[in-house]
Amino acid sequence: MNPRSAIHKPGVLTPLWALVDNDLRDRLPVKGGDEDAIEWPRLVPFFVLHLGCLGAIWTGVGWFAAAVCLALYGLRMFAITAVYHRYLSHRSYDAPRWLVFLGAWTAAAAAQRGPLWWAAHHRRHHRHADQEGDSHSPLNGRFWWSHVAWFTTRRNFRTDLSQLPDLRDRAELRWLDRFDVAAPLSLLVALYVLGEILAVQAPSLETSGWQLVVWGFCVSTTLVFHVTSMVNSVCHLFGARPWQTKDDSRNLPWLAVLTFGEGWHNNHHYCPGSVRQGFRWWQFDLSFYILWTMERFGLVKLRPLPARARVDGARSA
Ligand SMILES: [Zn+2]
Ligand SMILES: [Zn+2]
Repeated sequence: MNPRSAIHKPGVLTPLWALVDNDLRDRLPVKGGDEDAIEWPRLVPFFVLHLGCLGAIWTGVGWFAAAVCLALYGLRMFAITAVYHRYLSHRSYDAPRWLVFLGAWTAAAAAQRGPLWWAAHHRRHHRHADQEGDSHSPLNGRFWWSHVAWFTTRRNFRTDLSQLPDLRDRAELRWLDRFDVAAPLSLLVALYVLGEILAVQAPSLETSGWQLVVWGFCVSTTLVFHVTSMVNSVCHLFGARPWQTKDDSRNLPWLAVLTFGEGWHNNHHYCPGSVRQGFRWWQFDLSFYILWTMERFGLVKLRPLPARARVDGARSA
């Protein structure tokens, strides 16, 4: 029997364990059997994350906290695009398992749930893009649904392992997917401890544990979340469509800068297997440049670009 489909009989400690164990939470009975009801208790951390940004009113900000915020934005945005998206969802390059796990842990620290959950939903998006079965199409006035509401239901909280025949046997990814809260929680604690140590050892940095938590975790994670989400929402509504695809995907240059290349979303839907998403030389694609550099150091092996992605010239955008 699929362990994820077996109903779990709640015990005394079940609510406590269910806070950290996704498999257990998915197996708890659904009230009224409604798979599309919003699971409010599971959204508490998401609201707390956003409210945490207001902590900046009390902690203030210095150059060091701002730099940590930016660095963690860059590191986790790269991990989301390069590992969650281009590796796990599309397998557009090869990499050793330890490196994939390290990247998946870094991406999971952005609190966008676990690696298998992310990749399964994304593969489903490509299979049904903007059609029946796409979990997060913004068409038909569903902007907010596609941006933020789609993942709030029991149905979409689940990880559909049937989408991942090539990944579902990797024990380390299964573990991280099950206990995905471990990654953001460990980052949060590390930031607090670092800030408190620096407050004593390097007072000239004028930082503190709470200031690093607010800027390095709350503000930075909220930014990564909304910018990533804009690929699902804005990039299927606004921008150029140089390629005729079956969906409504668009190219948005400014979003490509913020997402390290993901804003060339019409290119991507046209050729999902291409590790390079900026097809033309001027289409800024930072994730590809970094992966290309990593290949020079022997860390990854990029799959050859499919012929349709090798053209340096989509019809004029
Ligand atoms: Zn899309
Ligand atoms: Zn994709």
